[in-house]
Amino acid sequence: MKKALLGLGLVGAVGAAATYGMTRRSNSSYVSPNAKRAVVLGAGFAGLNAAKTLARGRDGLDLDVLLIDRFNFHLFTPILYQVATGGVGPDNIAHPVRYVARASGFRFQESTVEGVDLEKQVVRTDDGEVPFDYLVVALGATANFFGMKEVEENSLTLKTLGDGINIRNKIIDAFERAEVETDPEQRRALLTFIVVGAGPTGVELATSIRDLITKVLLKDYPKIAPAEARVLLVEALPKALPMLAPDLAENAVRTMRSKGVEILLETPVVSVDEQGARTKSGELIPAKTVIWTAGVKASEIIASLPGEKGRDGRVRVNRYLQVEGHPNVYVVGDCAMYFEEGAERPLPPNAPVAIEEGKTAARNILRDLRGEDPEVLHYVRQGELVSLGRSNAVADIMGIKLTGIIGWLTWRLVYVTKLMGAKNRLGILLDWTFNTFNKRETSKLNVEQGPAQPGR
Ligand SMILES: Cc1cc2nc3c(=O)[nH]c(=O)nc-3n(C[C@H](O)[C@H](O)[C@H](O)COP(=O)(O)OP(=O)(O)OC[C@H]3O[C@@H](n4cnc5c(N)ncnc54)[C@H](O)[C@@H]3O)c2cc1C
Repeated sequence: MKKALLGLGLVGAVGAAATYGMTRRSNSSYVSPNAKRAVVLGAGFAGLNAAKTLARGRDGLDLDVLLIDRFNFHLFTPILYQVATGGVGPDNIAHPVRYVARASGFRFQESTVEGVDLEKQVVRTDDGEVPFDYLVVALGATANFFGMKEVEENSLTLKTLGDGINIRNKIIDAFERAEVETDPEQRRALLTFIVVGAGPTGVELATSIRDLITKVLLKDYPKIAPAEARVLLVEALPKALPMLAPDLAENAVRTMRSKGVEILLETPVVSVDEQGARTKSGELIPAKTVIWTAGVKASEIIASLPGEKGRDGRVRVNRYLQVEGHPNVYVVGDCAMYFEEGAERPLPPNAPVAIEEGKTAARNILRDLRGEDPEVLHYVRQGELVSLGRSNAVADIMGIKLTGIIGWLTWRLVYVTKLMGAKNRLGILLDWTFNTFNKRETSKLNVEQGPAQPGR
């Protein structure tokens, strides 16, 4: 036993050392005045991998690599729903970009990108203009409300770390308010949580909210009866998780229903206000919390780029990930619409696709600088994984279908190994251990500034 623990400790220490650049040569980010400049926009899955590949592969080239993001951390979105439901602490899924910059040898700038001028070859940011010779646009996606302003104004989304903390606060606040509320209708609305969109994000979030309520909150708020708290998953299409094989999708629906998630299919939500969500048939579902996970669209910056755009705002790129008419401008990840040869549909917007596109675009910039021909993206499908709350998940990995606890353990193993940073991995493992004993982060995190203290 002692030996096993020691082994784990050693692995952790080596992992931490590698992460913080102690065992790796810390590449110099010195830039000569004549260097060509590659600018990468967005430190998500695509952009971070592009910047790392550029910096690590530029030996013998005079190349300055600059990564720009509005936040100075990389967010691990697959576990964001657990921040929203108190399963993990926010710090554990955020990895400082400057650690990666130091270890890989690129520069980082925290700025918000406001536009791109392809003629002048500059990026416009809230901190001024940044010139480029090569550009990689990896600004990700935002929630798609399909033009429904009222829905946009009155529902919560789950895209940023702030969104995750916000949802967690909203759920806990609803329970605090409901405990002291005497009007039964108000109580019902406070304790009804609607998740719109039965894709992977909506399914994972709805089941995790249900687990949080059943296993933790109903015990902590004794004045609330189990039947009062409802979680609804509302979907416009006739089926949930349409990207999964039918038997896996059916398994997921059965599991969610057995946990107490109410699933409404073929029920488009057309408006949301302070009373709740209204469906296309005119029915009002009273609820104080409505979370919109029903679609994404590419960053608005993409609209200004040349080339064909999809309905979700993605711009069509060629087989080398370049934008039409601009071979020095690459678009990758959730912003890009990439068709493999002969394919009728573009690659889906997900993390593995974003990672491969980011790396390929970076290698093509390095190839161009070396006078070599560009390479085509080779993407190998890795499968689908959807968590269904405590002890349950469905997975399809290279055609192998897994469900129940085996699927759940696979889900955890895959994501904990993909998480960046040994500190985050250990933090997540610790959080998950406490979850087993029904301990979740249920403090309402007040991020507002407190009143000034006398004498300070
Ligand atoms: C809740 C959730 C769960 C998900 N779960 C999974 C999953 O389990 N598996 C999976 O494969 N995919 C999952 N996805 C999808 C996956 O996160 C995306 O496909 C992937 O992140 C796309 O990578 P990207 O680099 O294109 O964009 P992102 O990773 O979103 O990165 C975009 C970056 O650009 C920055 N940015 C945006 N606008 C600006 C601006 N104007 N100025 C400066 N910086 C800006 C952002 O801060 C961000 O760092 C999930 C997404 C969400 C939201």
